[in-house]
Amino acid sequence: MAERRKLILVVIDGLTPDVFEAAVDDGVAPALSFLAAHGRYGRGVSTFPSLTPVCLSSIVTGAHPDVHHIPHLVWYHRGERRVVEYGSSFAAIRAAGTRRSILDAIFNMNEQHLGRDAVTIYEAVEDAGLTAAAVNVTCYRGRTPHRPLLPGATRPAYGPKRFFFYNLFESDITGAPVAFLGRSVGSIDAYAGAVGRWLVTRDGFDFLFFYLPDYDFASHALGPAGTQEALARSDAAIGALIEAAGGPDEFLERYAVIVCSDHGQTQVDRVATLQSSFAGLENVIVTASNRAGMVYGDDPAGLARRLDGSPATEVVLYREGAEAVARRDGEELRFAPSPGGWSTTGDPSILDQPQALERSWAALANPNAGELIVSPPPGVELADLAGRSHLGGGSHGSLEAGDSEVPILTVGLDRAVPERIVDLAPLALEHLGVGRAAHAAA
Ligand SMILES: [Zn+2]
Repeated sequence: MAERRKLILVVIDGLTPDVFEAAVDDGVAPALSFLAAHGRYGRGVSTFPSLTPVCLSSIVTGAHPDVHHIPHLVWYHRGERRVVEYGSSFAAIRAAGTRRSILDAIFNMNEQHLGRDAVTIYEAVEDAGLTAAAVNVTCYRGRTPHRPLLPGATRPAYGPKRFFFYNLFESDITGAPVAFLGRSVGSIDAYAGAVGRWLVTRDGFDFLFFYLPDYDFASHALGPAGTQEALARSDAAIGALIEAAGGPDEFLERYAVIVCSDHGQTQVDRVATLQSSFAGLENVIVTASNRAGMVYGDDPAGLARRLDGSPATEVVLYREGAEAVARRDGEELRFAPSPGGWSTTGDPSILDQPQALERSWAALANPNAGELIVSPPPGVELADLAGRSHLGGGSHGSLEAGDSEVPILTVGLDRAVPERIVDLAPLALEHLGVGRAAHAAA
């Protein structure tokens, strides 16, 4: 039997299928074009809300938020009676408390918020005696403690054996440059490229999660159609891996590859606030950012009616008994899982977005989600804690196809290209001979 190839999972944050397909055709991205010429490609669907902490947790655990419990970029922690803000904007981080937000984003998301029953791909790979590596991924939970590199800081983060996180944690000395300066010119992807080069040169992993966030940063600022330069820089980081292997043929001989993004992006031309619909109500907490919102409070049906006609709202989701309700301007669709599919009553066009029944149900079944989850109309972004937005640029988070569809390219894998990001971890584990994670969806 041929030796099983190692696997590299590359996630280019926020890359849309349109941009990926065009770049592969016109040669803007030579490394991606090379991989596409040797692989299979399809469009897949993200999770909901389609925001990075939620999506990366879904990719890493092979599960929707009902299992991994990360609900949003910003959410209300019922047990601790406080807002958790992972980083909607610098102003929102300040509004939530800078120190607390940094601890939430760097440590607590993995150590406390990520569901105990979820199994990360690093845990599954390393429990099978293989070595996992993660570069800059926000969902990194593993079993090896790593001390922070900041002077005076001692709290360890538990990651895979090979763990690199924005110069804060580095399991090995690689000589890669500092990542925080020069974000808009791709400094973090350049750091990832340098670390990836080191890892490939030493053949230092069986599974590598290679996460490239700078594309999303550019797309938020410039809009999803203005990002060719940013894509060229992400492509260069992938090119560094190919070079380090000794060239394209050697690279494909050694590694199977999955390239995808975590969510899409759509253009923002209006900003709305969710909070204003609940002014004066006590015991109602609203968390909103990008293109998704949560409302925490009693009487979800009554709270949902307040959003009828709101410019912040296209679809409002909530649970009522054994069913879920999707409400759009007074019309309703009721739905629940049934053997072999879904039982629904009402207007099916309310949830005709990609895989919307499954994604909505799983988002509502997350114990950290609000009683209401709000998906805004196309073009609308919800102002964050500090009133910030990406007006004139791009955003994502909703159920809409533009926010939800992702490119998925597989190279050297036997199976058909998956149609959901939650299928990527089971596919990778099967390829590595590790078997499927216990919780993974059928
Ligand atoms: Zn983003």
